[in-house]
Amino acid sequence: MASMSGSLEEVTLASLSTEDLYREILSRVGEDPTRDGLLDTPKRMAKSMAYLTRGYTMDATAVLHDALFDVDYDEMVIVKEIEFFSMCEHHLLPFFGKAHVAYVPNGKVVGLSKIPRLVDMFARRLQVQERLTREIADAIDEAIHPQGVAVILEAQHLCMMMRGVEKQHSATTTSAMLGVFKSQLQTRNEFLSLVRRAG
Ligand SMILES: [Zn+2]
Repeated sequence: MASMSGSLEEVTLASLSTEDLYREILSRVGEDPTRDGLLDTPKRMAKSMAYLTRGYTMDATAVLHDALFDVDYDEMVIVKEIEFFSMCEHHLLPFFGKAHVAYVPNGKVVGLSKIPRLVDMFARRLQVQERLTREIADAIDEAIHPQGVAVILEAQHLCMMMRGVEKQHSATTTSAMLGVFKSQLQTRNEFLSLVRRAG
């Protein structure tokens, strides 16, 4: 056999574009990636995946950096009903729902609009709901060292709903309680009743 050294570029998975990889996946599920409706699908999938995982290109310090303020205020700050969309790391299927975030300041607060951005940043990565909950709480804790932070996530998981697993239990609630939300029952209950109150 004649040697072909130097004449061919080695093709590895890493040398393929994301579009090529999605085209291959379309073939593997039994589709014809060259048919009309699918021609641009690999391009769309690559773009969509980049968007849904854009949280990897951000960090909490950058998101919060110009929005930390000194205050003389020590009542609970609460942001409820923050819509979020994430993807489970086990199936790459969406889970989505509402986040409720509260903290009791200790000389510093976060600009209110930054809390939803922080939730979004962590949600736009491959996640499990428990870790997402914890990462939001820890980021606030590290940024302003409050007296306490509480995060509750209520989510529906398409990997359970679409695949027919535990349909009846498809809404999952997770929570992270730090500082006074952990140590003081009264503070935790105040938060929980504020979350449950409609609106
Ligand atoms: Zn899953």
